Amino acid sequence: MNNIELKKIKEKALEEHIPIIMDETLEVIEKYLSKNKPNSILEIGTAVGYSAICFTEFLAENGVIDTIEREADRVKEAKINIKLAEVEDKINIYEGDAVEILPTLNNKYDVVFIDAAKGKYPFFLKEALRMINKDGIIFADNILYKGYVMSDYNKHKQRTAVRNLREYIKEVSENPNLETEILEVGDGLAVSRRTNRKALKFILILSFLFSFP
Ligand code: SAH
Ligand code: MG
Repeated sequence: MNNIELKKIKEKALEEHIPIIMDETLEVIEKYLSKNKPNSILEIGTAVGYSAICFTEFLAENGVIDTIEREADRVKEAKINIKLAEVEDKINIYEGDAVEILPTLNNKYDVVFIDAAKGKYPFFLKEALRMINKDGIIFADNILYKGYVMSDYNKHKQRTAVRNLREYIKEVSENPNLETEILEVGDGLAVSRRTNRKALKFILILSFLFSFP
């Protein structure tokens, strides 16, 4: 991919105050992607396609990214950017509200990247869990939301977002099939790996039973 194009896309997005992924957050995700070479990524929140375009570099051969964006202007710009970056064959954009689109999807994904309406994170998690592959990973950006999530700051405008981000953290932490870390990079990144505790338990029980003579 052409790095000059990518830089231009990033600079234009920043100028237009489009909330694209922060460099240090991108670095953490890319490190994971380069190690695991996913076949499929689901992104919730395309904006102008910047993060999706960055991720294409780390896909397995013939890997794809499905990404969802509800603002028509952004979808339009994302399509232009994706063409500029020559990755049209790797990114599918779904235009519309992820709350409506997600329940219609039935694919399996190695990676899910949640980066859209903070008030909907618990719903996005439920849908991500339905579609994530075993050993897959779910990233959620902006999970600490400028520090509001970990403080007692509770101003009206952000109250719903903060409540739902806290709910997300609680759910990923308590889910026995997930191993979660909350990283303080950028605006906060939740990293949840889907393990398979149930299968593991089953194997442990079996090996215990068969260990008797
Ligand atoms: N991932 C992008 C940035 C996404 S910004 C990048 O790093 O380059 C968040 C985007 O999510 C915004 O463009 C916003 O319009 C979109 N969004 C927010 N809520 C959404 C929803 N419910 N469905 C679809 N898109 C949504
Ligand atoms: Mg973000």
